[in-house]
Amino acid sequence: MSYNPANEIQDYLVFGEFGGVNPSIEDSSTFTFLSAERMEEVFQGRAEGCYLYSRHINPTNEYLSRACALMEGSECAQITSSGMSAISCTLMQLCSAGDEIISSRTIYGGTYALMKNFLPRFGINTHFVDITNLDIVKNKINEKTKVIYCESISNPLLEVADIPALKKIAAEHNLVLVADNTFSPLMLEPIKLGADVVVYSLTKFVNGSSDCIAGAICGTYDFISSLRDVGSGACMLIGPVMDPIRASSIFKNLRTLHVRMVQHSKNARYLAENIEKLGMRVFYPGLKSHPQHKLIGSMLNPDYGYGGMVTIDVKDEEIANKLMIKMQEEHVGYFAVSLGFYKTLFSSPGTSTSSEIPKEEQEKIGLSPGLIRFSVGIDHDIERTFGRIKHSMKDCGVI
Ligand SMILES: *Cc1c(COP(=O)(O)O)cnc(C)c1O
Repeated sequence: MSYNPANEIQDYLVFGEFGGVNPSIEDSSTFTFLSAERMEEVFQGRAEGCYLYSRHINPTNEYLSRACALMEGSECAQITSSGMSAISCTLMQLCSAGDEIISSRTIYGGTYALMKNFLPRFGINTHFVDITNLDIVKNKINEKTKVIYCESISNPLLEVADIPALKKIAAEHNLVLVADNTFSPLMLEPIKLGADVVVYSLTKFVNGSSDCIAGAICGTYDFISSLRDVGSGACMLIGPVMDPIRASSIFKNLRTLHVRMVQHSKNARYLAENIEKLGMRVFYPGLKSHPQHKLIGSMLNPDYGYGGMVTIDVKDEEIANKLMIKMQEEHVGYFAVSLGFYKTLFSSPGTSTSSEIPKEEQEKIGLSPGLIRFSVGIDHDIERTFGRIKHSMKDCGVI
């Protein structure tokens, strides 16, 4: 069996400095020095293993960063206070005024708004493309292009990016391939597949408790060092620092990620198959009807299934809204945005997590107003949950 960092996630998690099963929390913003020369070396980025100030590096945050790097199979990682700050710091580190990004057009609404509305203020412009069409990606490349950006499994239509093929294009043109792997931790390992940088919203599956906002950037030692550089690093200078108490909490939740992902995937597949059997349009990479079903099969770490996200199309916004309220009443889960919680969460992307994308654009990329996105929970009895969904659908006239 080939080496899969994701399969050995528990081996990475270290224990405490004093023999405790958990590492201690370093609750300090600043650190003492015993010589002026040493402090100067740290400022110049030359004193490995020394701590300076917690916006730069904090030992507890370093534990979580290292665990993320090991999970991802990257040389190094930097944790941040949100997924959005991981994405914005990555792009601002890689691009300067005049540079261009080629991005998938079906991405998280916040990322879309960042590229569409915010980065142009700094002279960084983005071409949004159908990332599954490699010819279109190639055609958009010019001398200004710096980055190809995709989500391994995209929000909310669950399109799958062909990371090895995108890597080939990126390498031919000396571009950096950035992949957001928020929807597919452990099941897809983009670094292994060829991505240069992997970004995460740890808020979702990785933390899994819906109790905080957090992010991570995984990449080469040189790239992560550049983000931390005291004179020019986006993480150091913009400063999205995670609180070390929170880093410790996420670190502990990471230990059960492999068990949770198996259960999320198992339940999602059950719901996707059975809702499809009711004659509804269902988007799930594990279904034969999914356009990239074969492609994802070629990239997947088979131990973790096809992921916990399922999107259905009930065709009509009003019916979608009615159904979500009914499902909440029937204890299917919660009508809430976000994902990766132990309970099923559902929301309507068009009016929530993708509402940053203008209506005309939504239509073009197949974002129907009747879509409902499910983050399927780790329910023990998914057949019972399906029964409740079916009952709610009948009640709302969907089936
Ligand atoms: C939630 C999410 C983000 C943003 O992460 P935050 O932690 O909310 O800042 C980015 N990408 C994807 C795919 C997401 O689902």
